[in-house]
Amino acid sequence: MSEFIDGRMLIGGELVESRTANWLESVNPASEEVIGRVPAAGPQDVDAAVRAALGAFDAWAGLSMIERAQALRGYAQRLREEGKRILDIEVRDTGNTIAKLRHDITSAVRGIEYFAGLGTELKGETIPASADALHYSVRQPYGVVGRIVPFNHPILFAAKFGAPLMAGNCVVIKPSEQSPLSATVLAEIVRETLPPGVVNIVTGDGIGAGAPLVRHPLVKRISFIGSVPTGMAIQRAAAEVAVKHVSLELGGKNPMIVFPDADPDEVASNAVAGMNFGWMGQSCGSMSRILLPDSLYDAVLERVVEKAEAIVQGDPAREETGAGPMNSRAQYEKALVYIQAGIEDGARLVAGGTRPEGPEFERGYWLRPTVFADVTRQMRIFREEIFGPVMSLVRYQDVDEAIELANDVEYGLTASIWTNDLNLAMRASRDVRAGYVWVNGVSRHFLGTGFGGFKNSGIGREECFDEMLSYTETKTVHVRV
Ligand code: NAD
Repeated sequence: MSEFIDGRMLIGGELVESRTANWLESVNPASEEVIGRVPAAGPQDVDAAVRAALGAFDAWAGLSMIERAQALRGYAQRLREEGKRILDIEVRDTGNTIAKLRHDITSAVRGIEYFAGLGTELKGETIPASADALHYSVRQPYGVVGRIVPFNHPILFAAKFGAPLMAGNCVVIKPSEQSPLSATVLAEIVRETLPPGVVNIVTGDGIGAGAPLVRHPLVKRISFIGSVPTGMAIQRAAAEVAVKHVSLELGGKNPMIVFPDADPDEVASNAVAGMNFGWMGQSCGSMSRILLPDSLYDAVLERVVEKAEAIVQGDPAREETGAGPMNSRAQYEKALVYIQAGIEDGARLVAGGTRPEGPEFERGYWLRPTVFADVTRQMRIFREEIFGPVMSLVRYQDVDEAIELANDVEYGLTASIWTNDLNLAMRASRDVRAGYVWVNGVSRHFLGTGFGGFKNSGIGREECFDEMLSYTETKTVHVRV
């Protein structure tokens, strides 16, 4: 029996309960057992966190870049050292497989180290606008940044605040209420390694904690990772109270465009890998629509089904497990609704769609990796983000139709193109409306390259230098000479 996690928030360097005296319980999605709780923050807690951040701001922004980098590297080092403890909690709280989650911790550490090295690149310019003045620009931090993050990569998104901090801001982080437990370990690490108030963590749901953070008058910069409807609600709420800089990393319904010269074995392996069944499809860049020409359709279908059926499902803490449960009852039920919609709309269910069999799957949010064939563009499973383990195979007739199908959704996050025809690869990558495109690849993120979406998938780019710039505002100065 693992220990019960009795979570705390971090406000002004103190580990605290909520002023509301309320708590949110968190369950292990593999067993539905309550494994911990976190304070359910309300507006007063959010206000205290924002004021603590503001109180820490002058001293933090007053440090040299080298001092800020040193502090961040110390924090990253502790994060790495506490990796095992975080993993143990995170696997139980999310249902994601241990191998996948290990990679999330590494990515968070690397992201911090990357931004720690970039401080002195936050340069301004001198502009030769007139002969009788020196015109120059400087980049200054916003002050307090609010970061609201989703349930699927909890520690990765909560922990990677290198960009706003190196730019001189202080932050208030709001983790998801669906998998909030690792934030408690994060709070301890931050408390040990960074000055009080520089990073604050408030746990709670969207209404109690997220909305007051968005509406807080002292928070001008909001960075949000989550769904399209919440992103739109945040834009509306922010606009009602003040002029704010809101960046949005939102959902996807990502196409894998396969051209006739591709190898069906390679395509099938990458389609299954790209669908992120290890996250049960709950990863924003997942390839949920596989667009295939007639000539490859049957061969890829057969192989995809074989590979999806071979995925070993079970305890996500075991290294050999290929897929665990879904993250929450809500996600599980949403996936079931879409599976039903796929059947009703006339798609052909060729793998999964049901709970796995066996005593260990009687409780919990278990669903087999699911594949639909003969999906067409009118169907809900083609158009809407399921954020579950449901892949759609779609047939196309020619290149124009392939690209048109790829673009025929409200989203534009990632896309994957499969061909060795250089011209076709360049044409498709030019015409696909997505922010992150792989040619002959899937899933991998490359630190230093901008990740983010076109269309309703978002505004702004992360994981690159642009992210850091986005946490500054430019001041132009004219000095008469
Ligand atoms: P969600 O939008 O339901 O919630 C995200 C966060 O917003 C949570 O912390 C929640 O408490 C908070 N929230 C909810 N309502 C709010 C409100 N009115 N005001 C302020 N905060 C509010 O998303 P989710 O279900 O946690 O995550 C899944 C979604 O995130 C998917 O759509 C997925 O594609 C997307 N996502 C995108 C990226 C990316 O980088 N583009 C990465 C991961 C996940």
